Amino acid sequence: MIFKVAVMSGDGIGQEVMQSAREVIHKALKNSSHQIEFTEVLVGGAAIDQTGNALPAETLKAAEQSDAILFGSVGGPKWEHLPPSEQPERAALLPLRKHFELFANVRPAIIYPELKDASPLKPSLVEKGLDILIMRELTGDVYFGQPKGKRGEGKEEAAFDTMIYHRYEIERIAHLAFTYAHSRKKIVHSIDKANVLTTMVFWRETVESVAKSYPDVKLIHQYVDNASMQLVKNPSQFDVMLCPNLFGDILSDEASQITGSIGMLASASLGDPHSRWGREGYSFGLYEPAGGSAPDIAGKGIANPIAQILSAAMMLRFSFKMDKEADAIEKAVKKAIASGARTGDLIMQGDKNPALNLRQMTDVILEGMD
Ligand code: NAD
Repeated sequence: MIFKVAVMSGDGIGQEVMQSAREVIHKALKNSSHQIEFTEVLVGGAAIDQTGNALPAETLKAAEQSDAILFGSVGGPKWEHLPPSEQPERAALLPLRKHFELFANVRPAIIYPELKDASPLKPSLVEKGLDILIMRELTGDVYFGQPKGKRGEGKEEAAFDTMIYHRYEIERIAHLAFTYAHSRKKIVHSIDKANVLTTMVFWRETVESVAKSYPDVKLIHQYVDNASMQLVKNPSQFDVMLCPNLFGDILSDEASQITGSIGMLASASLGDPHSRWGREGYSFGLYEPAGGSAPDIAGKGIANPIAQILSAAMMLRFSFKMDKEADAIEKAVKKAIASGARTGDLIMQGDKNPALNLRQMTDVILEGMD
């Protein structure tokens, strides 16, 4: 099969780390029966400079003709003077998520045992490593519910938003969460606030009805306030965390902090396998590192390429069902970390080896795939 990928490297370190990800994909597919065709397109500040638009029409068209988007990062001081609606992140990333109906944000929070000291948690809590998949609903909830607005005056002046979920919105993300849990430790924690909010009672009931189709996956309901405590008290209890938009926004950032470095964190925004985008039966997705364009280190060749490389591995796994190829990449990253390879962001007090630059770290990972 030949899959098509729209490559949007963007700004800052985006260009640098994307090169590493493409080299790693190239190697992973060397003996594979599948191929990937890449189309490099403009996005973000680079696109504003050349076309006046952070998401030019040709970029959108190339993505529509692709099976996935591999995204770098956008933004930087050069474009900070623009009005908020024209800022690269707002004007490129959000419209892409909306256009392609990407309703699930998937963020693995992984702690490698060798990097346990980089976590702000006590080493005893994370000494065996940690691997949590946070699945956050992206299109509903209080962020998009209508009506929202202001009314009244003086002491009576008030502002309001509407928390609302439709059954189909909960069902489609719950199916995704159970599907991924099935190939992992077979536990889903569904996060809600069903003790207070009617919307969340409905969330809980709907998740329970979806769970009936996955009898071998254990479903645990947890209130969001408890979940935020458990993440720092006993994080290894979690495998897949299924979260509504608002709670997922907060918990995914909390989980990313306990892993240590933003340079290691991949993410995916996924759509329906039966949507009109991409191939029938395959989820169209946008894959990107959790961090931004890192203007402080851009152009120096010292960024950590791992978040972009792991985002590429997620693309192979989630959008193209290439588990074997994704495994090879993830194993090579683990091997590199276990061997002591560290970019500057991973160096800790007392480390004896000097920091590797981006080229050296990429080469260690490529060698690990031999
Ligand atoms: P940032 O993630 O770019 O940087 C925060 C810190 O993390 C910096 O010290 C940076 O050097 C470091 N860092 C990030 N990725 C790294 C990597 N791969 N290797 C080593 N160190 C890394 O966040 P910021 O400074 O708040 O934002 C900078 C710009 O990026 C802004 O214009 C912002 O709007 C944009 N941004 C874009 C995205 C996106 O494209 N999805 C996400 C977040 C921020």
